[in-house]
Amino acid sequence: MAQTKEEILEKRKKYNLENKEKIKKLKEKYKESGYSKSYQKAWALKNPKKKKKYNSDYSKNHAEEIKIKKHQKYLKNKEIVLKKNKKYKKIYQQRNKVKVNARNLARVHIKIENRNCKYCNNPANQRHHPDYLQPLIVEFICSDCHERIHSKYLMKGGSTVSCSN
Ligand SMILES: [Zn+2]
Ligand SMILES: [Zn+2]
Repeated sequence: MAQTKEEILEKRKKYNLENKEKIKKLKEKYKESGYSKSYQKAWALKNPKKKKKYNSDYSKNHAEEIKIKKHQKYLKNKEIVLKKNKKYKKIYQQRNKVKVNARNLARVHIKIENRNCKYCNNPANQRHHPDYLQPLIVEFICSDCHERIHSKYLMKGGSTVSCSN
């Protein structure tokens, strides 16, 4: 009669339990036999030329495998980067909701026509929001002064982008 998967697993478990010491000794023997990582390292240090040849042989013989592994790594990384970007985009959008809202409201309700820049008195072509929470309170301003103001904001950790134009 054929064994079921459970029966095989059960048997293996029982065997492992009954032969704990034996398995432990086998594992130690395996470690000492020269296949352990530290042994490999020591061997590589003693035989740099052989190690080099081994490496190049390995990459020759496993070219396809290496290629696939590399590609898998690339895909995994890509996924992580995409996920991160998505997360940051969301945070950015949330932070900017207030700002975008102020910008849109001002654009619709406040015309710039025939105004002069508050700072240099040149013709104004942009709106600046001293406070995004008060969307209809704007300063009329030229693009040069606007840039200057926002680079000052940047130094204080604020936005680099003109708030409204
Ligand atoms: Zn501004
Ligand atoms: Zn100006």
